[in-house]
Amino acid sequence: MKEKVGFIGLGAMGLPMAENLLLHGYELYVTVNRNPKPVEQLKRKGAAELRSVEEIAAKCDILITILPADSEMEDVLLSESILSALSPDKILIEMTSGSPDTMKKIGDVYSSKGIRVLDAPVSGGTIGAQQGTLTVMAGGEEDVLEQVRPVLKAMAQKIYRVGGIGAGKAIKALNQMLAGIHMIAAAEAAALADKLNIDNTVLKEVIGASSGASWMLENKLDTIISQAYEPGFKLSLMRKDVEIAVSEARGLKLPLAETALKLYKQSELNDGDKDFSAIAISLQQKHDS
Ligand code: NDP
Repeated sequence: MKEKVGFIGLGAMGLPMAENLLLHGYELYVTVNRNPKPVEQLKRKGAAELRSVEEIAAKCDILITILPADSEMEDVLLSESILSALSPDKILIEMTSGSPDTMKKIGDVYSSKGIRVLDAPVSGGTIGAQQGTLTVMAGGEEDVLEQVRPVLKAMAQKIYRVGGIGAGKAIKALNQMLAGIHMIAAAEAAALADKLNIDNTVLKEVIGASSGASWMLENKLDTIISQAYEPGFKLSLMRKDVEIAVSEARGLKLPLAETALKLYKQSELNDGDKDFSAIAISLQQKHDS
């Protein structure tokens, strides 16, 4: 008998991840936060709607959360009401890209109540979420990971255990720092190529076969050229991720990440809800002026 799974955070990532759990035969419990559409969509595919996150916590064996950031993680997971609804036989799989400190705080509170926790952020974007090909970066005890591995496999292709609680969030922050910097580098290359009258297909093909290649140049150049900035992954979320990396540095200098953070903060003022590749808009404007 498969576990009952409660899912909180039905956004760009959570909705397709939850759909994959249904496809793999899990009993799924959801509730409306503000937007009813994902709950309606999941109900049509077999999910059960409950009235609150507390009801989900009481009903499920495994609770999955993938929320925007630290503050939502704290609001949802550290509320007295959810803590009293969760009994020690439950497991929390926390998949938000949050900070290691907040994850450790939640981990400490939960383990003091005997609730087991896996810190399990993901990479692979909305396409990976739809196709069930995400990468999971898991922090926590090995036996907890083994117990929930089948659930993770319904959503992910690669699952790594990277250390204890907080280590998943830490390696995710490292990935996002690199991804955020690489995105800016690709956008700058596109702007300079334009100035130098280098065709974008040439840029993509030749650099793609050379030492300047990057995942962002390969996968995001077309978005920049077509200016199709529908998220995807919101620029405001990338700002949050680079900010986590910079704040984790605690005195260590990260000049590129600090510069990237400034640029994402500026772009967020106008383009925060666009795809993160919209950082190219502000770079282009600077370039033209
Ligand atoms: P979205 O903004 O699309 O979705 C966030 C979801 O959380 C919404 O469904 C929202 O519900 C829900 N939510 C917010 N606050 C609460 C709350 N207090 N209680 C219950 N539900 C709440 O974000 P994404 O799905 O894009 O990202 C989620 C996390 O995954 C982030 O940490 C992000 O950095 C990370 N991530 C995102 C990727 C991407 O490509 N998008 C890739 C990898 C990781 P409502 O809309 O109803 O308010």
